[in-house]
Amino acid sequence: MESDLLTEYQKRVSEVIARNRSVLDIISKQQCANARVARSVVKAVTSCGCIKIYGHKNPPRTGTVQLEGELCVDCENTVKTEMGELLFYLTSLCNALGISLAEVVRQDMNRCDMLGCYSLR
Ligand SMILES: [Zn+2]
Repeated sequence: MESDLLTEYQKRVSEVIARNRSVLDIISKQQCANARVARSVVKAVTSCGCIKIYGHKNPPRTGTVQLEGELCVDCENTVKTEMGELLFYLTSLCNALGISLAEVVRQDMNRCDMLGCYSLR
Protein backbone atom coordinates (compact mmCIF):
# COMPACT_ATOMS: atom_id res chain seq x y z
CA MET A 1 0.00 0.00 0.00
CA GLU A 2 2.85 2.42 0.86
CA SER A 3 4.40 1.53 -2.47
CA ASP A 4 1.16 2.61 -4.18
CA LEU A 5 1.32 5.95 -2.35
CA LEU A 6 4.92 6.51 -3.46
CA THR A 7 4.10 5.53 -7.03
CA GLU A 8 1.08 7.87 -7.07
CA TYR A 9 3.18 10.67 -5.58
CA GLN A 10 5.91 10.14 -8.18
CA LYS A 11 3.31 10.32 -10.95
CA ARG A 12 1.82 13.49 -9.46
CA VAL A 13 5.24 15.16 -9.26
CA SER A 14 5.80 14.33 -12.91
CA GLU A 15 2.47 15.94 -13.80
CA VAL A 16 2.85 19.16 -11.83
CA ILE A 17 6.44 20.03 -12.51
CA ALA A 18 6.31 22.74 -15.13
CA ARG A 19 9.66 24.36 -14.59
CA ASN A 20 13.01 22.97 -13.57
CA ARG A 21 12.86 19.98 -15.88
CA SER A 22 16.60 20.28 -16.34
CA VAL A 23 18.55 17.79 -14.24
CA LEU A 24 20.93 20.58 -13.22
CA ASP A 25 18.00 22.72 -12.06
CA ILE A 26 16.50 19.77 -10.16
CA ILE A 27 19.80 19.01 -8.40
CA SER A 28 20.39 22.63 -7.41
CA LYS A 29 16.78 23.05 -6.21
CA GLN A 30 17.13 19.83 -4.21
CA GLN A 31 20.22 21.22 -2.50
CA CYS A 32 18.37 24.45 -1.64
CA ALA A 33 15.44 22.42 -0.28
CA ASN A 34 17.84 20.35 1.85
CA ALA A 35 19.30 23.53 3.34
CA ARG A 36 15.80 24.84 4.09
CA VAL A 37 14.93 21.64 5.99
CA ALA A 38 18.02 22.09 8.16
CA ARG A 39 17.25 25.79 8.63
CA SER A 40 13.66 25.09 9.68
CA VAL A 41 14.91 22.74 12.40
CA VAL A 42 17.54 25.25 13.51
CA LYS A 43 14.92 28.02 13.66
CA ALA A 44 12.75 25.79 15.87
CA VAL A 45 15.67 25.87 18.30
CA THR A 46 16.96 29.42 17.91
CA SER A 47 13.82 31.44 17.15
CA CYS A 48 10.91 29.51 18.61
CA GLY A 49 12.67 27.51 21.30
CA CYS A 50 10.17 24.65 21.23
CA ILE A 51 13.06 22.17 20.93
CA LYS A 52 16.62 22.10 22.19
CA ILE A 53 19.50 20.22 20.62
CA TYR A 54 22.48 19.00 22.64
CA GLY A 55 25.66 17.60 21.23
CA HIS A 56 27.26 14.50 22.69
CA LYS A 57 30.22 12.40 21.77
CA ASN A 58 29.03 8.94 20.74
CA PRO A 59 25.36 9.28 21.67
CA PRO A 60 23.51 6.04 22.41
CA ARG A 61 22.16 4.30 19.32
CA THR A 62 18.52 4.35 20.36
CA GLY A 63 16.22 7.34 20.26
CA THR A 64 17.00 10.96 19.53
CA VAL A 65 18.68 11.65 22.83
CA GLN A 66 20.24 14.88 21.60
CA LEU A 67 16.80 16.42 21.27
CA GLU A 68 14.69 17.82 24.09
CA GLY A 69 11.11 18.99 23.70
CA GLU A 70 8.72 18.65 20.78
CA LEU A 71 8.12 20.77 17.73
CA CYS A 72 5.23 23.17 18.24
CA VAL A 73 2.46 23.12 15.64
CA ASP A 74 3.92 26.03 13.66
CA CYS A 75 7.45 24.62 13.57
CA GLU A 76 6.18 21.14 12.72
CA ASN A 77 4.20 22.55 9.81
CA THR A 78 7.24 24.47 8.57
CA VAL A 79 9.54 21.44 8.83
CA LYS A 80 6.98 19.25 7.06
CA THR A 81 6.57 21.81 4.28
CA GLU A 82 10.32 22.01 3.76
CA MET A 83 10.62 18.21 3.85
CA GLY A 84 7.89 18.07 1.21
CA GLU A 85 9.89 20.40 -1.04
CA LEU A 86 12.95 18.21 -0.57
CA LEU A 87 10.92 15.09 -1.36
CA PHE A 88 9.49 16.82 -4.43
CA TYR A 89 12.92 17.49 -5.90
CA LEU A 90 14.25 14.05 -4.96
CA THR A 91 11.23 12.56 -6.73
CA SER A 92 11.82 14.86 -9.71
CA LEU A 93 15.37 13.55 -9.90
CA CYS A 94 14.01 10.00 -9.80
CA ASN A 95 11.69 10.89 -12.68
CA ALA A 96 14.48 12.47 -14.70
CA LEU A 97 16.65 9.37 -14.24
CA GLY A 98 13.84 6.86 -14.74
CA ILE A 99 14.13 5.50 -11.20
CA SER A 100 11.16 4.34 -9.13
CA LEU A 101 10.89 6.20 -5.80
CA ALA A 102 9.19 3.16 -4.30
CA GLU A 103 12.10 0.99 -5.42
CA VAL A 104 14.58 3.41 -3.83
CA VAL A 105 12.69 3.15 -0.53
CA ARG A 106 12.40 -0.64 -0.84
CA GLN A 107 16.11 -1.02 -1.61
CA ASP A 108 17.11 1.14 1.34
CA MET A 109 14.75 -0.70 3.68
CA ASN A 110 16.42 -3.94 2.63
CA ARG A 111 19.81 -2.34 3.29
CA CYS A 112 18.67 -1.23 6.74
CA ASP A 113 17.36 -4.72 7.48
CA MET A 114 20.55 -6.35 6.25
CA LEU A 115 23.09 -4.04 7.90
CA GLY A 116 21.09 -2.92 10.94
CA CYS A 117 23.14 -0.80 13.32
CA TYR A 118 26.29 -1.67 11.34
CA SER A 119 25.28 0.55 8.43
CA LEU A 120 27.26 3.34 10.16
CA ARG A 121 24.74 5.99 9.19
ZN1 LIG B 1 8.25 25.93 17.59
